[in-house]
Amino acid sequence: MAARPTPYLNELNPAQREAVERLQGPVLMLAGAGTGKTKALTARIAHLLSTGRARPNEILSVTFTNKAAREMKERVGRLLGQPAEGMPWLGTFHSICVKLLRRHAELVDLKSNFTILDTDDQLRLLKQLVQAANIDDKRWPARMLAGIIDDWKNRALTPDKVPVADAGAYNNKGIELYAQYQTRLRELNAVDFGDLLLHMVTIFQTHQDVLEQYQRWFRFILVDEYQDTNVAQYLWLRLLAGAHKNICCVGDDDQSIYGWRGAEVGNILRFEKDFPGAYVVRLEQNYRSTPHILAAASNVIRGNESRLGKELWTDAEEGEKVRLIGHWDGEEEARWIGEEIDAMQGGTRGVRPIGLDEIAILVRASHQMRAFEDRFLTIGLPYKVIGGPRFYERMEIRDAMAYFRLVVSPGDDLAFERIVNTPKRGLGDKAQQTIQMTAREHGVSLVDGARIAVDNGLIKGKGGKALRELIDGLARWNAMTRGPRIEVDDDSVIDDGAPMRFGEPEVSHIELAQIILDESGYTAHWQNEKTPEAPGRLENLKELVNQLDNFENLQGFLEHVSLVMDNEQEGDGAKVSIMTLHAAKGLEFPAVFLPGWEDGLFPSQRSMDESGIKGLEEERRLAYVGITRAEEVCTISFAANRRVFGQWQNAMPSRFIDELPEDHVEVLTPPGLYGGGQPTAGIETRAAEANVYNSPGWKRMQARQGQYGTSQPRESRTTVIDATAVASFTMGERVFHQKFGYGAVIGIEGDKVEVDFDKAGIKKVVSRFLSAKDD
Ligand code: ATP
Ligand code: MG
Repeated sequence: MAARPTPYLNELNPAQREAVERLQGPVLMLAGAGTGKTKALTARIAHLLSTGRARPNEILSVTFTNKAAREMKERVGRLLGQPAEGMPWLGTFHSICVKLLRRHAELVDLKSNFTILDTDDQLRLLKQLVQAANIDDKRWPARMLAGIIDDWKNRALTPDKVPVADAGAYNNKGIELYAQYQTRLRELNAVDFGDLLLHMVTIFQTHQDVLEQYQRWFRFILVDEYQDTNVAQYLWLRLLAGAHKNICCVGDDDQSIYGWRGAEVGNILRFEKDFPGAYVVRLEQNYRSTPHILAAASNVIRGNESRLGKELWTDAEEGEKVRLIGHWDGEEEARWIGEEIDAMQGGTRGVRPIGLDEIAILVRASHQMRAFEDRFLTIGLPYKVIGGPRFYERMEIRDAMAYFRLVVSPGDDLAFERIVNTPKRGLGDKAQQTIQMTAREHGVSLVDGARIAVDNGLIKGKGGKALRELIDGLARWNAMTRGPRIEVDDDSVIDDGAPMRFGEPEVSHIELAQIILDESGYTAHWQNEKTPEAPGRLENLKELVNQLDNFENLQGFLEHVSLVMDNEQEGDGAKVSIMTLHAAKGLEFPAVFLPGWEDGLFPSQRSMDESGIKGLEEERRLAYVGITRAEEVCTISFAANRRVFGQWQNAMPSRFIDELPEDHVEVLTPPGLYGGGQPTAGIETRAAEANVYNSPGWKRMQARQGQYGTSQPRESRTTVIDATAVASFTMGERVFHQKFGYGAVIGIEGDKVEVDFDKAGIKKVVSRFLSAKDD
């Protein structure tokens, strides 16, 4: 093979170049964020190919996500300037192992067309086994067993290898159940996700000939994000590289953020022991971020005790300081970020215009996305959610909304179909067909059809009982949307514009939503689930309930959602990226927003409750990952109040904020509170402010304002205040109400505002359902 030119080497610094050119033997590139590890790894592949040292299929390159694999393929193609003949084995551990396992399935008693089970199938199988073993599956839910087994698989432990001390779960039957499960999977010619690696490790350990074949085949091995490999992945790599030892791993111990999924940062620290004589490269120049951003990240990560410790430097221009801003609440935070993004695009911030593609919002928990998605849909700002569905498209949100829809409109058959057996009520296909047929026969909705079917004994047993409970529940919740009936002679209208037939509902729609989710068994359904995703789903449900506070009733909320979802942004135009910090690993953006830096959210409550510093240190590494994604502008924000189940809770700024270095941070003035808006006189406003400033979150915020010598609070206004506070509108002010439209304030009484609506006439409404409107 003729050698090709090597222009890609000129783009590297001497340390990177050294790592790229040392093609033989083990190489470890251990370096901080943005130092060009991935770039060097890609150049190494190009170098192997263009010097003719390896053919494409002799290279095995493992990345953390499929997205990263795709990007690396593109980069290699570009570096070589012409399409390589064939492509290297480039993919995630799982995607590579599936291919290998299909070739050797028979060695672990599988056929090559084995199926990969999804979580539902896996759980059903485990449940059967638990029940067959006479174990109370209420006390020992299958989901918990699934978690335990995953953990064993991540540690490459086949049933015979699980240490005695670990084997006692499930009334000392954990290990037996694991063995039975593996047998059952074989009978079904199936594997679960964890098996993909586990089986390959087993094959390599027990079939020397196969291992040697691949050792000869994959002559060069490269691994990105090595700090996040688990034990099974590590063993697999060590076996494959054991003969030739041509393995190049790159990673950063400070970015190890998957400990909760069994990743072992120890793998990176063990590398030199496993591969004696390894060439270790340390890169210290960061090419990604400005000095201020780098200084902020470095200062935060310095708080961790267990780290190797590396210093980073950059010769980039100074740029802007890291920006820190506190907001009244999460909605305000989303509103402000939306405005900032507009300003960035227009270049009105005094710096270069920044495009939507260049901007990312990185959240700690996926439920935080809701506020941004709502806001961006409302103002028509194109965005995409990376690594997951958008908030209202999430399974648990759609399920919950189906319940709400059905309570508000019992004839909503689609909603009924969605939830009739969610959570599982023992209503299989047959029962559901019976409901459909009965409904059709009587020309009624599915809910009514179901009632008739149960009444007539067409659906019996456990399923019939559960169905009866559901139908009764729906009727009860529906009744709760109204107050008691009021007898009147005419349809005269009272304050809220509803015909005078029913009094005020006895429970608020927020409480009702919670009641629906709880009594239907939907909340418990996720509480009992012990998968890593379950807590996130519960949080999303909480966020959904929180959000109801912005609406007057369930109906208004459902309308809002159908409207914003209708605003779907099609097309491939530039979009702001929203993703979790975990999904942002390895990526970079000119402008990054890091919202929700509050104790309990980030760091997470769980990490704060844990004894020891392990959890907190992982959160701090996540903060480091977040800040180091930013190239030019990094904006950190927090809210003084978050709503939890419709209740305001004071939030403390994150302890990580205290770890940001003063000299590199600029504290911004929140527009809503520090004089950005028009000062509003009046006792109500001041009372509202007093309320704000009394919250511990604000006190700490103010202390920080003083510390950094920025402006002190001036007279200000708030437009959103909590239920006990008073209205902040002024007489004559133009306002907007979700139901009644536009109008002018003509009276204020506590938190009630009298408004002369353009279309609906004069009405008294609760102030929090009004928003200020500048015509
Ligand atoms: P992370 O730890 O976040 O994954 P990394 O170490 O993998 O970071 P890269 O993504 O490879 O870093 O590089 C960061 C940025 O710096 C990229 O935009 C890359 O193109 C650029 N870069 C890397 N090395 C050099 C270099 N020698 N000269 C100029 N730019 C470079
Ligand atoms: Mg990288």
